[in-house]
This record gives sequence, C-alpha cells and structure tokens, in this order.
Amino acid sequence: MPIHNEDIARVFDEIADLLEIEGDNPFRVRAYRTAARRVRELGRDLREMVARDEDLTKIPGIGKELSAKIHEIVETGTCRALEKLRRRLPPDLPELLRLPGLGPKRVHALYHELDVHNLEQLERAARDGRIRGLPGFGPKTEARILEAIHAQLDVTRRFKLATAAQYAEPLAEYLRLAPGIDQVEIAGSYRRRKETVGDLDILCTAKAGRPVIERFVAYDEVDEVLSQGTTRASVVLRSGLQVDLRVVRKASYGAALHYFTGSRAHNIAIRTLAVRRGLKINEYGVFRGERRVAGKTEESVFAAVGLPWIPPELRENRGEIEAAQAGLLPNLVELDDLRGDLHCHSRASDGTGTLRHIAEAARARGFEYIAITDHSKRLTVAHGLDERRLLRQVAEIDALNARLDGIRVLKGVEVDILEDGSLDLPDRVLARLDLVIAAVHSRFDLSRAAQTRRILRAMDNPHVTLLAHPTGRLIGEREPYDVDMTRIIRKARERRVALELNAHPERLDLLDVHCQMAREEGVLVSINSDAHSDLDFDNLRFGVGQARRGWLEKGDVLNTRPLDELLSWLHGRKAS
Ligand SMILES: [Zn+2]
Ligand SMILES: [Zn+2]
Repeated sequence: MPIHNEDIARVFDEIADLLEIEGDNPFRVRAYRTAARRVRELGRDLREMVARDEDLTKIPGIGKELSAKIHEIVETGTCRALEKLRRRLPPDLPELLRLPGLGPKRVHALYHELDVHNLEQLERAARDGRIRGLPGFGPKTEARILEAIHAQLDVTRRFKLATAAQYAEPLAEYLRLAPGIDQVEIAGSYRRRKETVGDLDILCTAKAGRPVIERFVAYDEVDEVLSQGTTRASVVLRSGLQVDLRVVRKASYGAALHYFTGSRAHNIAIRTLAVRRGLKINEYGVFRGERRVAGKTEESVFAAVGLPWIPPELRENRGEIEAAQAGLLPNLVELDDLRGDLHCHSRASDGTGTLRHIAEAARARGFEYIAITDHSKRLTVAHGLDERRLLRQVAEIDALNARLDGIRVLKGVEVDILEDGSLDLPDRVLARLDLVIAAVHSRFDLSRAAQTRRILRAMDNPHVTLLAHPTGRLIGEREPYDVDMTRIIRKARERRVALELNAHPERLDLLDVHCQMAREEGVLVSINSDAHSDLDFDNLRFGVGQARRGWLEKGDVLNTRPLDELLSWLHGRKAS
C-alpha cells in the first residue's frame, strides 16, 4: 500500500496526541508535532526519498530517531511506537483533543474520571450534566463542549491543494494504466487550482467503461465503494477523500470536462451565453435542438459561444468571460517562467541547508539566482539573526559568490515587523543587503486600523523590498489577520515594494483576489517558496497555480526576470 507524506504526518500527530494525553515529556510531544508539520509541508515524496535511500535528517525537525520511524512507516505501513500507545489508550480518545478548549489534561480527566472514550460518550456526559462536577470544569465549560461537538459534526472536510495532489496524482497515474483507457483528467476545483479541494472528480475516455471502473474500485487505497456502475463509480479513500470517476464518450469529453471543472458561477454564465445563441450546453455536449454541434473538446464548447479557450484557473466568473470576449485574456505565468526564488532560509536560522548547498540546489533546478533570507533576531524560536550574525553571513555570501559559477546568491533577510511597525534590525545593516523582506510573525490579533498602520509604516522604510505572506493566514488553521489590503497594495505601488505570493502549501498568501488587485495597480508579485530545505522548491508549483488564479502574467511576477533585470530593479529602487 503506497504511503504518502500525509499518512506519515498523521502517524506523528497521533503519537503526539497520545503522548500528550498520557502526560509525556512536552519536548518529546513537540518533536512529533514539528515532524508532522515538516512532513506535511515537504514538497517531495518521502516514499520516493526512502526508495532512493536519501538522507532524511536533511529535513528540518527530522533527527535520526524520526528518520528511522519514517523508514518503518514507509516499509511496513505502520509504526510500532504508535501501536504500543494505541494498546494503552482507547482508539477514539485523540479526537476529543480537536475540540476547542479540550487540552490533553482535560481529556485525561474525562477519560479517567468519567470513562469517556469518544465524542458520543462525551456528548452523553455533557447532556447528563456529569462534566460540570469535575475539578477544573464547570457548567460553562460543559455547555461549550456540547456546542463544540455539534459544530465538529457539521464540518465537511476539505483538503489543502498540496495534500489532495499527493492522493490525486498517483491515482490518475494508476488509472492511466487501465485497459483501453485514452484520456484521464482530474477536473473540479483541483483543476482550477483552488487552495482547498472538497472531493475529486476524475473524467476519462476509454474503449469500454467496465474495465476502468473495475480497476478504479480495486485501487488499494479505496476504503469504501459508495456506488459502482458501468461508467461511474464513487469511492472514499483511506484518507477520507471522496473520488468520483466518470467514463464519458469521446464526443462528450470536452463538454464533460468543462461541466465538471466549473466553477458553477462560470458554467451558469456560459450556459446563458449559449441560450442567447439558441444553443443548449450540458455535460454531454452543445446542442441545437436534438443535434450535437460541439463537445468533443473544451475548445469546441467555448467556440460554440464565440469564445477562445479560457484557462481553468480563471473560471470563476470574475471577469474572464468579458476578457475573453474582448480578446484580453491574460497570458498566464508558468512554472518554467521563474528564474529564481527570493525567499529561502539557511541553517543559520531555521532552515537545514548550508549556503553552498542551497546555492547548488538552486542552480541544479535551473535558477539564475537565489536569495538567502533568514529570520531576524526577534524570532528566537527560529534562531533569528542579530546584526553581528547577519553581517557575518553577508561576508560569507560574498565569498561564496566569488567561488561559484552559474548562480548568484543574493543577500537578504526576512526581518520581523515589530508591533509599532519598526523593523527588527537597524537601517545601516539593512542597507548592506540586496533585498529586505519584511514580515509579520507576531500579534496577529491587532485591530484592523493598528495592523494596517503597522504594516504601512514598515513599507515606508526605504530598505524594504518585499512584503512576505501579506495576510498571515494559514489555510484551515488561521484566518488572515484583519488588515486593509487595498491600502497595502496602494502603498506597495507608491513605495515600489513588491508583494510576496508565498507558495508554502499552508499559506498560498497573497490570495488570488489580491493578486488581481496588485496586477491592476501595477504592483509586482514575487512567487517564493519560503524554502527551509531545497526540497521545498517543489512547492513553487502551487504558488504558480495561485498566481494564475490571480490573473498574473509573466511580466507581473518579479522573479521571472533575468538576473541583470532583477538587479537593476533592486538597485533602481535604492537609488530613487
Ligand atoms: Zn515568514
Ligand atoms: Zn520565511
């Protein structure tokens, strides 16, 4: 059974949960949590790394012991340490931890005092009023627990795009080997590169449906078959991801692909155009009366309503149809357009690579430049650099550039924006760098006015080149902080500061709508990996997907520029 990074992350999370409930050493618990996060964020497939016998301790947060566990999980599908913990505690206990307000201590008490093992028993205990009597609980906590249980049961699970990709791509590859199969495409929000994906819609054409469907339901990650016919089936994978597969006729493939790619709003607008031309569009084709006039390809569907093909990332009915009518569709940026990466951490802060290692990895990827932007001293958890360490790094980079061919290492920093909008390092140090990324890593809770003022003030510092992850959101975990993005984008134009589109799978921040605003204001966007190891460069593709959703063309993206143009932009800023 193939093991994905997400499976490994879940094992580590569960170990951390169980250790926490048992009251184990907090450092040990945190090591597992960090490892789970690192594994989840990783751009590379761990199974593949194990197969190639690569050194996993290169990954930040993964030491010898965790590396051995990853090998064990990849090779055996399980982990003895987890099995042992599971034997000691009831299996559903960890899900109680996910309720807001229930930490390991409280879960421990509920388990030992009330013999509560799972959500149902917890709900019963709350309804019976048995929880309020426990030390450290009370009627208010009890009511909140009951509310949280109900909210929890309502949540429909969505997957981050990068997580969905881990499951979707191998499955599509597997289907491509089905007998008689012709075309295979993952449609839906996945194809539109939305930041989260609810379920997967896969379309294919084949000589016959049945063998494809049989191969699909036999996939070894299928946990449950919800329905199965001769041309359609729905399954749930072990990960909880639902996948619907349809085998469609060749003559309908383009219409089906358009229909199942969506979005709904886009499809409705296209169908309205069709009606005006006396046509009907559905998943089977484009029809005039009973006669099919188009539908074999997506191009033919668009052509039937007088439009050129519209890239899936734009299909949100946010102006793409009007742009297509006017011949003004953007020529969207592509992964291959990127010439370098402007946000990368070395071993000096919380990354894993040495300067030389990062530079060589970037060169091997075909980059012309890479910026080293370690954290500043305020971020103590990341071992941020103070003035002295940063200046030493500057000297090291100069020495490295003198020895290296084919890649230019740029001197940078990811400097913390302090609460009052001042920066965590003095101007005389920032002046020595090629670029300065300013970033908020604290006080996400400020009022809209204060947060906006703070960031605007930072952008007024003449040394700031780039604003990192502008809204601070973590998908599914932390909402964007309350900030006036219109004012920030205007300030970026005025100060000639570029905005980052952080390609980290948890961030994808700049948001798509803000990319569109930046483009309209003539503000450059930089698609950066925020790499903590060279493996993270692979995440850039998700950043490019987001940029495409935000209508960005190559010319809108700072790091598509060749080195000499980038340098003259950086120096031009300084001179002005
Ligand atoms: Zn950051
Ligand atoms: Zn960073």
